[in-house]
Amino acid sequence: MSRIKKLDTLLANQIAAGEVVERPASCIKELIENCLDANAKRIDIEIEDGGSKLIKIRDNGSGVHPDDLGVALSRHATSKIYNFDDLEKVATLGFRGEALASISSVSRLTLTSCVEGSIAFQVAVQGVDQKPEVMPAAHPKGTTVEVRDLFFNTPARRKFLRKQKTEFDHIDEVVKRIALSAFDVDFTLKHNQKLVRHYKAAKSLIEEEQRIASLCGKAFIDHAIKIESEIAGLKIHGWISLPTFSRSQADLQYFYINGRIVKDKVINHAMRQAYHDVLYGGRFPAYVLFIGIDPGQVDVNVHPTKHEVRFRESRLVHDFIFKTVKDSLSHIKVKEAPTVSLTKIVEPEFEAVTQNNFVYKEPEAPKIYSQQIDQYEKLAAAPPPSYEPAEEVVNVEKEQSHPLGYAIGQLRNIYILAENADGLIVVDMHAAHERVIYEKLKADFASDSLCAQPLLVPVTVSLSVHEVNMVEERLQYFADLGLKISIIGQESIAIREIPALLREIDLVKFIQDILSDISLMGESFQIEKLQHKVLGTMACHASVRAQRKMTILEMNALLRQMENTSNSGQCNHGRPTWLKLTLPELDKLFLRGR
Ligand code: ADP
Ligand code: MG
Repeated sequence: MSRIKKLDTLLANQIAAGEVVERPASCIKELIENCLDANAKRIDIEIEDGGSKLIKIRDNGSGVHPDDLGVALSRHATSKIYNFDDLEKVATLGFRGEALASISSVSRLTLTSCVEGSIAFQVAVQGVDQKPEVMPAAHPKGTTVEVRDLFFNTPARRKFLRKQKTEFDHIDEVVKRIALSAFDVDFTLKHNQKLVRHYKAAKSLIEEEQRIASLCGKAFIDHAIKIESEIAGLKIHGWISLPTFSRSQADLQYFYINGRIVKDKVINHAMRQAYHDVLYGGRFPAYVLFIGIDPGQVDVNVHPTKHEVRFRESRLVHDFIFKTVKDSLSHIKVKEAPTVSLTKIVEPEFEAVTQNNFVYKEPEAPKIYSQQIDQYEKLAAAPPPSYEPAEEVVNVEKEQSHPLGYAIGQLRNIYILAENADGLIVVDMHAAHERVIYEKLKADFASDSLCAQPLLVPVTVSLSVHEVNMVEERLQYFADLGLKISIIGQESIAIREIPALLREIDLVKFIQDILSDISLMGESFQIEKLQHKVLGTMACHASVRAQRKMTILEMNALLRQMENTSNSGQCNHGRPTWLKLTLPELDKLFLRGR
């Protein structure tokens, strides 16, 4: 049997480095976080050979006290927390006192720093277990950390480094993520002596939006709305994409908690939920969002890289994000809806979902009783509600209250052409009517949709003992959702009643989805989600199909309904329902100077 021995400090640090310093980019993340914690307003980053030769980061922050320089590089040495109480409410990005020790154990590191009213000092270590010597140096107020030959003494690690370009791309992404959160800090990034990025400090909303445009693309900010909300010390602000600007991947989703970028299941769920009703399945929203929360309400000490957090009250945070985002989306009424200008549609790196490139598929939905469809197909047959002719004679230039303007005709029985003060409005009749009916159905059903209907034959579902316990503890909760369930064994339940609207769904999958929601969030949205699917299909059947001739009166009535309907900027598959061509845009198309 081998005997137990205590690891020497260097080896212990190198082991810790395995977690914290995966590659040059993770090293840079730690170093920039230190600059931000020191309140720097300017951070200059210089990289050589994708970071494997040199990483040099200089800031103008508060600096390290000369007496602390010797200890700054040792493990478990930090100025950010002193006791357990501090750990419970960390307000800085760092707190583990690990980064400098880990990085210096796998590189040749020099730390030069100067605090207000003192001269500068420097310490240097070469990846050996030595006590660093503190020497005088020249440096303005602030700190420079120089990391040379990363992984020079851990060859296995060094082999894992990818091509310069790949490593640099990772670094670029890390800097971008941090630059998105620290608007008031000026960042420069040089690679092999060449200035590659300069993110100027943003001091106003316009400058912030410019920075976002340079980081996430102009198309994003052009198709995003700004949101802001606060409840009981919980704050959210940021930018979320309009449903008509969605992505095929979840690659433009940035979420920060107290300035720290995080990946979090609860937040993802809340965002998916908020968009589920306005985005076509398989598409992803884009957002840059910042949550401000009392540091005591969130545990950041979950993972060495600090990418994960744990909320003390995750339900509260979930519901707050969900509600704020959903409300903001449903309040995008016609006035703020997107101007889908021709130039924006062709923007290459982003996909504004347009009629042209959208693959239309009927949503998958459970079958519904044919009577219900009949009932709503009647809606389709009837012309849209009547229109008051008194409003018909209007001076378009003066009329501001009807942003969608007034119908001037119909194109191919598919599109309504309307005129408003800005120019031409083109409306996809079917898509628009579908959303109008869908929102109405949702409102109608909201009150009585949960009324339970007994199943002729109860459905037995086999579950794990744990799952059966979960159900047993929540029988009343399920009953309130219209699900009457009885426990018939240690590993099985019987479903006796389900909400009227959800006949003929896959009950086993349904129950499992609900249980997985409950274990993550404490409650489930599956029922609402499925009901919305059913209602969406009904709306689709009930709406005016393309190819139907409408009178000007009917067209105007539909325009007025759209103006008064939530989410009317897109149909319930996320396709836009209308677009605007302004007079200046038309002039441009016809090369007409004004
Ligand atoms: P942590 O950030 O978790 O405290 P680090 O190993 O990253 O641990 O840094 C150790 C300490 O060195 C920090 O607590 C801080 O006091 C100091 N430090 C590191 N970088 C800087 C910097 N750029 N400016 C000022 N102080 C710094
Ligand atoms: Mg740190």
